[in-house]
Amino acid sequence: MTDRRRLPVVAVVGAPNVGKSSLVNRILGRRRAVVAEEPGTTRDRGYARAEWAGREFLLVDTGGMEPSARMGLEALVTLQARIAVEEADVIVHLTDARTGPTEADAAIARELLRSRAEVVLAVNKLDDPADESERYRFYSLGEGEPHPVSALHGLGVGDLLDEVVARLPEAAPPEAAELPGIAIIGRPNVGKSTLLNRLLGEQRAVVSEAAGTTTDVVESEVEVQLDGGRERFALLDTAGVGKRTHRAQGVPYYSALRTAEAIRRSSVALLVVDAAEGLVAGDLQLARQVEEAGRSLGVLLNKRDLVPPERLREVQEQAAARLPDLKPPVLGVSALTGAGVGEVLPFAARINRAFNLRVRPHELAEYVNHLAARSAPPRGVKLRYATQTGTAPPRFTLFATRPGDLPESYLRYIENALRERYGLQGVSLRLKVKSSR
Ligand code: GDP
Repeated sequence: MTDRRRLPVVAVVGAPNVGKSSLVNRILGRRRAVVAEEPGTTRDRGYARAEWAGREFLLVDTGGMEPSARMGLEALVTLQARIAVEEADVIVHLTDARTGPTEADAAIARELLRSRAEVVLAVNKLDDPADESERYRFYSLGEGEPHPVSALHGLGVGDLLDEVVARLPEAAPPEAAELPGIAIIGRPNVGKSTLLNRLLGEQRAVVSEAAGTTTDVVESEVEVQLDGGRERFALLDTAGVGKRTHRAQGVPYYSALRTAEAIRRSSVALLVVDAAEGLVAGDLQLARQVEEAGRSLGVLLNKRDLVPPERLREVQEQAAARLPDLKPPVLGVSALTGAGVGEVLPFAARINRAFNLRVRPHELAEYVNHLAARSAPPRGVKLRYATQTGTAPPRFTLFATRPGDLPESYLRYIENALRERYGLQGVSLRLKVKSSR
């Protein structure tokens, strides 16, 4: 599996209607740019994996920017676009030759120049890319050389990508970044800090200030004993325990940013929930954020000391019902007394195994045959075979004759059986059906 944390991020940013999505599509559509949907990222945020000149990166389309009466990035962008800007290593600031440089372009330029990212200026919709005078006007933005492009016709995009790739940071040294991440997330006051202190207290943790992040996600290396073996992980702390308090520590914008960053860098997110409150709307929202990001999820029911023992089962049932595509496992703990805390990392390590599951093709085919024999699909539909098409999270494709006639309930049957057999709790299991002739 490739390590997501090592992929540099390139964001395309600009005022509305300058052609951001066209440019992104153009970059992704080019023959030499190898594109694959990045499993760990959400479609909404428009992340895709791209490669140019042998360098891989995540390309982010910040299509969510909205016009606003007030100027400045603050007013122009949605939270998601801002997260993209904060995460980015290189930002392509796209402008429109027909209208710009506008006040909005200038406001965005001022903000971008303050970010830690490298900024590359691109000018779209030039009628005549050879006409230097047209693009020279954009030097006034102070972002250096304006690169002429036509997102629509693909002109200049290769040169722009050459410039982007030249500014990508060197890949991080592998030993620092290759550990799978466990993110501790949760609403305020559920006990994240207390839990982290306990977890880190038990370990001789190596706390590293993750280089180059602006979001204060602190990473500590931890070791887990599981089934006689040892596995190492990076524990990703969104509570800010390992670090001096950020001046904006409690500000919701920063904690949302930290959570998004920790989820992105994780394989497993552990959602800490207050047992006295149960699984409330805010918890479910975070769980769905993890699911959308294609990561795996475990629920830690903290403050168990405050509730009767049967609360655990209630929350387990609630979690399975409300998050049917993940069916996250739930572990009861008390960060305060330490009860169950020793189980937390093995719990996460097990989820991580399920997340990275690879089933041998032969075995999978046999098992699906067995399922079809136990409960046959509707008349006229034949299951030919099943194959695993991806991992982290695991994806499966079922080949059938007349797949359109397979009811949803039958797919659920197969999904549930696979989940049960391979211990896929907390992992979004994606099953596709394709036609076989
Ligand atoms: P955070 O905002 O998620 O980091 O939450 P904190 O770790 O700061 O905890 C919030 C409050 O809950 C503090 O007063 C903790 O002492 C308390 N707390 C945390 N874990 C437990 C627990 O397991 N049991 C009880 N009774 N209280 C807890």
